[in-house]
Amino acid sequence: MKVIIVGASHGGHQSALEILDRYEGADVTIYEKGDFVSFLSCGMQLYLEDKVTQVDDVRNFKPEDIEKRGGKVKSQHEVLTFDADKKEVTIKNLATGELLVDTYDKLILASGVTPAALPVPNADLENIFFMRGRAWALQIKDKLSDDKVKNVVVIGSGYIGVEAAEVFAKAGKNVTIIDMIDNVLGNYLDQEMTDILAPVFKENGVNLELGAQIKGFVGEKQVTGVEHQNGVVDADLVIVAAGVTPNTSWLEGLVDLEERGQIKVDEYLRTSAKDVYAVGDAILPLNVASQKHAPVALATTARREARYVVRNLTKDQPTEKFQGVLGTSALAVFGYNLAMTGLNEFSASRSEVQIKGNFYKDTLRPTFVKNDGNTEVYVKLNFDEKSHKILGGQVLSTYDITAHINTLALAIKTGLTLEDLAEADFFFQPGFDRQWSLLNLAAQSALGETK
Ligand code: FAD
Repeated sequence: MKVIIVGASHGGHQSALEILDRYEGADVTIYEKGDFVSFLSCGMQLYLEDKVTQVDDVRNFKPEDIEKRGGKVKSQHEVLTFDADKKEVTIKNLATGELLVDTYDKLILASGVTPAALPVPNADLENIFFMRGRAWALQIKDKLSDDKVKNVVVIGSGYIGVEAAEVFAKAGKNVTIIDMIDNVLGNYLDQEMTDILAPVFKENGVNLELGAQIKGFVGEKQVTGVEHQNGVVDADLVIVAAGVTPNTSWLEGLVDLEERGQIKVDEYLRTSAKDVYAVGDAILPLNVASQKHAPVALATTARREARYVVRNLTKDQPTEKFQGVLGTSALAVFGYNLAMTGLNEFSASRSEVQIKGNFYKDTLRPTFVKNDGNTEVYVKLNFDEKSHKILGGQVLSTYDITAHINTLALAIKTGLTLEDLAEADFFFQPGFDRQWSLLNLAAQSALGETK
């Protein structure tokens, strides 16, 4: 079997690993248009904060890791088009300009996304940056120690914007986050959680200008400010983290695309072209909790999808559908650890799913534990009001309680209810938790029990 993979990030990497593991003698080639294989944007903050010192260490894999296992990796090779009838791809060697043709039995598209520029005046001024990939990592790193950069504006209060804001605040810059939504991280966390976090940003020197639509950038050659509906914020540097564009323009007319350019896939992650599959940020996966398709731009999603596709690659008709994802994710910011899975108020409303929520606040350990960092812990459970099926959850604390979110993700996937979670057999040990484990207590609270 001859497989061509487009893109050498999480989706492409996992696809190659799975094929080489599962199908003896398979011929696998990854074509990657970038010159560096395979920068790990998830680790960019670690590099910017000097927790990893060499930029080239922040990667998923080196080409030789795949080559050792019998695969081929061709960087600086852009796939321009494919012919589904002839089962051929046309590739441009970006180093030499040469055009090549290669053939496949199966083609896996993992071409991902690119940060989207804002469609406002002066978006092409100097010092307007994005936070994705190795080249931007190097440019951002340079600015952290540049004394001329005093005021940094981050546009977008999602995970990436928050990571950027923390990095620049820790480097001593005046940082402002601007977002059109009303709560920082409001697409990931419900208001009870964002109300706890908002003052933390302010205490750490990050101004929040929320509910503000960007009008344009100010400056002659280089950006000097960001104009939004309520005024202008001074900026020597701007990080735009406000959405992405799928890398799919080359696929127009070759496979069916969604309205916003993502690759349309069926429940087996097959595109509209025969023997062509798609994974990763460039598709809209099924959300387990809503049973609807929505963007979930996570490395974990790309890897799950790649594993599924490859497992079924040789079957004419797979019997088992891709079960979907929950967008389980975590973040540390200014000493707080947060994690979420499944539906929150924002994603439920966008997917038109009715949810009921319950916010639970407690201390980590029994109240008699006074001297050992007995910090507050917060859990939000979202569930179906009638069936009590758990549909989503969030956890937050200065202590690291993020592993609880993986339990909740399993609970959602297996269809557990509040009643199940309220009595689940979790451990107690006062060095770790309360007489009931935190998720037992959060579920009991959601059932209206007060103890
Ligand atoms: P991408 O990573 O977008 O890569 C696509 C690749 O395809 C690129 O290398 C591109 O050059 C190549 N390509 C595109 N078109 C072509 C073509 N025509 N020919 C050849 N090559 C092509 N996710 C997590 O799960 N956890 C995290 O902690 C996390 N942190 C993140 C932090 C940051 C700052 C960012 C930006 C993202 C983070 N993510 C995280 C998200 C994660 O990085 C993405 O979900 C993941 O990279 C998606 O992988 P992918 O394979 O779909 O595509």
